[in-house]
Formats: sequence, structure tokens, C-alpha cells
Amino acid sequence: MAQKKPDCERYRVPVGGSFRLSTIDTDDDQDLDRDEARKRLSLNHEQMQEYQQRLYAEGRQSLLLVLQAMDTGGKDSTIRKVAGVLNPQGCHVTGFKAPTDEELAHDFLWRVHDHVPRRGQIGIFNRSHYEDVLVVRVHKLVTPDLIERHYGHINDFERLLVDHGVRVVKIMLHISKEYQLKRLRRRLERPDKHWKFNPGDLEERKRWDEYMESFEIALNRCSTDHAPWYVVPAEKRWFRDMLVSEILVKALTDMDPRYPKPEFDLTRYTPQSIS
Ligand code: ATP
Ligand code: MG
Repeated sequence: MAQKKPDCERYRVPVGGSFRLSTIDTDDDQDLDRDEARKRLSLNHEQMQEYQQRLYAEGRQSLLLVLQAMDTGGKDSTIRKVAGVLNPQGCHVTGFKAPTDEELAHDFLWRVHDHVPRRGQIGIFNRSHYEDVLVVRVHKLVTPDLIERHYGHINDFERLLVDHGVRVVKIMLHISKEYQLKRLRRRLERPDKHWKFNPGDLEERKRWDEYMESFEIALNRCSTDHAPWYVVPAEKRWFRDMLVSEILVKALTDMDPRYPKPEFDLTRYTPQSIS
């Protein structure tokens, strides 16, 4: 039987629309077979490796993956499972925690810009500038008027990056509130997961609906043609990993990085002629 192809476009947030998170089933797997999905992930891994090498050799463009999720949404394990195969020399992961005093003394994009991947590199953001319209909105850490302006600042910032050769792909790993509870309980059940349990996550959990509302606004206002948002069902981890790899391969294919032409005279140097 022919293998069913996963469809990532169905999770792309339309530009300027009124996308609702409730339209995405967090447990979805598109009726794909788990083993087939694993095979597809490993094929995608091979492609990512090939493309990464070309990207590096070409040195003209870079790829930035922005990952956002609620606590226990699986950002860390997605990075490990999907990007773990990349050459560490050409890939950089940056986590964004609560800002330091120094960071708070600047505009919210100041700490972010420096971590955007340089040409030839792949960058991954574990949380990002979107925290400034998520946690910051939920906790009212700045005035509503400023938050309102942040969406425009983000779109302009991402436009700037795209204009300078950065492909921006943004993925929300989407889980349900019930699934989060399961994951939090698991962190208490397993001694090797205790270190991951953060009582503060229970406080944020109480504000689940406000987070979902903030996510929806951000997705609708900041999914653009040049920097689209994808909302990936993240409860079946094998499906999540395959789909994220699929989205990355699609972006890389579209970027089409090429090995540069040799700058030396190929007729002068042959494998036999050098010693
Ligand atoms: P882990 O999986 O290890 O829990 P994490 O990304 O949740 O990883 P934490 O240190 O638990 O790391 O959480 C980082 C916290 O920093 C999050 O609660 C996040 O909302 C918060 N944060 C990130 N950026 C900002 C920001 N700009 N303003 C305020 N809080 C922020
Ligand atoms: Mg945390």
C-alpha cells in the first residue's frame, strides 16, 4: 500500500484570518502509521543533513525555527529528536527565559536579535520574542498599549530578517490542558523527572485560558506570508517530530541552497594532478 503523505499545510495559520486553536485536535495523527512516520522522520533527517551542508557551503541564507508551547508542550524533546541529527557546527539553540535586569533595560527585541542565525547557519529559539505577547500579556507586565504595538514590532522585525536572507518558520506545539496535567503528574511520579517539576508551572496552568487567548491573537496577527505560524498537534510525539521535520524540510527545499561554484580553475586541478 502506498504510504500516506502527511499534510503540513493544514496546520499553517492563514494570514490575517480568524484562526481558532480549537480547530486543531491536539491528539491528531492524520491516521498515519507510527512506524511509517518514524521512517519518514529518518528520511527527513537525511534531507536536513544534506541541506544543512549546502546552506553552510553557500553561506547566503539562514534558517530560524521559533518554537513556542505551554509548559510540558515538548519543546526540549522536539529539539532533541528533530534537530539532534544536525551538525552542531552549523546549528545553534537559544533558550529565552525571564529577562535579566540588563535585558529589561532595553527594548524587547534587543536580546533576541543577537541570536538570529548568521548566513549559513540554522538557529532554533526555545521560546522567543513571542513571550512578549504571551506571558507578558497574561501577566500585564507592560501596558496594554505597548503590547498592542509589539505585534507590529514583531512583524517588522521578522520582515527585516527575511529581507536579509533569514527564513523564519514558527511552530506552536499544541497540547490540551488535560494532557498537560498528565505530563505534570508524570514529572512527580518518576524520580528521574523530578528535576523538571516546577511548582510555578501550576500557577501558569491556572491561567490556561488567558494563554490560549494570547496565543490566538499572536498567531492571527503575526502569521505572515514571509514568516508563517504552524500549529502542530503535539500529544502524539512521533507525529509531532515527523511533522516538525516535514515543515523544516519543506522550508529548506524552498530555500534551495546550492553548493557554490569552485573559485579555482577546475581544468588545472584534477585528482590525479595533485600530490
Ligand atoms: P523547562 O522545559 O526547562 O521548564 P522553560 O523554557 O519552561 O524550560 P523555565 O525556566 O521553566 O524554562 O521558564 C522560563 C520562563 O521564562 C517561562 O515561564 C517564560 O514564560 C518566561 N519568560 C520568557 N521570556 C519572558 C519575557 N520576555 N518576559 C517574562 N517572562 C519570560
Ligand atoms: Mg518551565
